[in-house]
Amino acid sequence: MSKKRWGNRFFASCVMLAIAALFFAGLFTGVGRETAHVPYIEFLQNFENGLVEQVTISDSATLRFSLTGDDTLFTTTNPRNPGLTEELLRGGVDVVEGSGASGIVQIGVSLAFFAAGIFVVSKIMGKHSPSREMAFCVREAQESGGISCTFADVAGNREAKESVQDLVDFIKNPKKYSRLGARIPRGIIFYGAPGTGKTLLAKAVAGEGGVPFFSVSGSDFVQMYVGVGAKRIRELFKSARAKGQAVIFIDEIDALGKKRQGAATGGSDERDQTLNALLTEMSGFSSSEGIIVIAATNRLDTLDEALLRPGRFDRHVEVALPDIGARRAILEYHAANKPLADDISLDALARKTVYFSGAMLENLLNEAAILAAKSSSELISYACVDQAFMTILAGAAKTDRSHIHEQERRITAYHEAGHALVSRLVSPETIVSKVSIIPSTKGAGGFCMNLPPEKMYYTKRDLEAQIKIALAGRASEEIIFGAENITTGASNDIEKATKICKDYIAKYAMGKAHGLLNLEVFDAKSQMIDECGELLERLYSETMDDIRGSLTKLHAMTDELLAREVLEQEDVERLAA
Ligand code: ADP
Ligand code: MG
Ligand code: ZN
Repeated sequence: MSKKRWGNRFFASCVMLAIAALFFAGLFTGVGRETAHVPYIEFLQNFENGLVEQVTISDSATLRFSLTGDDTLFTTTNPRNPGLTEELLRGGVDVVEGSGASGIVQIGVSLAFFAAGIFVVSKIMGKHSPSREMAFCVREAQESGGISCTFADVAGNREAKESVQDLVDFIKNPKKYSRLGARIPRGIIFYGAPGTGKTLLAKAVAGEGGVPFFSVSGSDFVQMYVGVGAKRIRELFKSARAKGQAVIFIDEIDALGKKRQGAATGGSDERDQTLNALLTEMSGFSSSEGIIVIAATNRLDTLDEALLRPGRFDRHVEVALPDIGARRAILEYHAANKPLADDISLDALARKTVYFSGAMLENLLNEAAILAAKSSSELISYACVDQAFMTILAGAAKTDRSHIHEQERRITAYHEAGHALVSRLVSPETIVSKVSIIPSTKGAGGFCMNLPPEKMYYTKRDLEAQIKIALAGRASEEIIFGAENITTGASNDIEKATKICKDYIAKYAMGKAHGLLNLEVFDAKSQMIDECGELLERLYSETMDDIRGSLTKLHAMTDELLAREVLEQEDVERLAA
């Protein structure tokens, strides 16, 4: 028997075996089983009660699932919710990625594919063709050809736009930079609350540079077979390189690059492989190529440090919630194609939508337009906007800040104004570059950005001033709202003050009680604590006196902060003067 004939026979047996296997698999997994269609809500109830055993998710209109201890094959409407898979996996459900068809049809389709596969393989036997092999398992990264989105489509977000301006120039003309040996970051991370415009901004970078935009989402890589994710990443970079210049956007990078927690948990192997493939690809291209990788995440602090090292994602750009001016701009942008009635003032609306993200603002106007259309009116009236406002607030996730009480806003404003004012009073050389009552992603309700002077040595007075600035938020709260109403918002400030205080006493021997002793050398904790306590006490009461002496300024600064939400350096200097 010649080698060739033997090969053909081998294939024939393979095909026969496969047909038989698929047939039997079909018998046992679906065909012939009783089926029932149930409402989605019933599916959810079963899931919550822990009864769902296996779910087959596909792009089709229905989901198939089975219940523990029940032979019936259930179907329900597919909500096409991309988050569903993860939720099911977390709930311990076996999730199968299926094609949309069911039963016999599916078997038929599988057979056809199998036969086609055998045919192709036997045709190209001997010829190695990696791209074809890959075509079976790699879904093309979504490439949107001519992106027309530019910075003009991103309203507000001024700082974020400024910090990616040079990248646009680089993408357009990489040689200009590489010739001078300039190292442009290969990877940029946009971080900020959902809906703040991270995706939009990434698209705008591609649009401004006039280059293709490739996007994938980290969550697509969850629950993939080992090796597939890594392969997809390599394919993605290959396609981008083929275009010469490009922006590669990786949304939800945290799904890939979350901090490793203790021992490896199930499935992390695959994640690591995908992550490693990404890092390898990123270190593989030279800076003369005009390729930029932009990743987005809601929280920077949950990312694996490996991702943040130099040469990787080493530029971090916060895409913050919009302040009142930015909200006005975003509303105006999205209202451009919507006929608004005269009773709507965008200024008033911007004022009312504190803590709304760009996406929520867009949604607000859209919902209002839908309501207006339903009532067949020509214009969008204030009543529609108001009703939409309520709907959006009610639907907003508990984690977002739209519900923050007016009183909490006032507390935050007095707290931050306290820091800013005392900073001006006790250390004029400290620069207060920005004060804000818009929550940052780092979890604070607001912030006051201080840049203490850069010096070789700090004087005792400098250290005391820094401690007072740190304590000023709490002091302001106490003066305005009373000792019983001070809040937990000062915890970081107190930690900071205590640390400076400890060094003041123990390390620099600036205290009174222990002369020139370094208390750390003696490990004299209790003495240290006592004296620190006294020092903090004294500085806190001095800070209270400072603020009491300038109450008018504190009120003025707070009022302006409440009205504008953000104060710049000039504003602070003017209000504290
Ligand atoms: P993220 O990626 O940060 O979650 P997106 O970029 O997906 O947010 O924003 C969702 C939608 O919200 C955008 O398509 C746009 O309609 C609207 N949007 C968000 N921020 C802005 C903005 N600064 N200017 C205009 N529209 C915005
Ligand atoms: Mg997004
Ligand atoms: Zn504070």
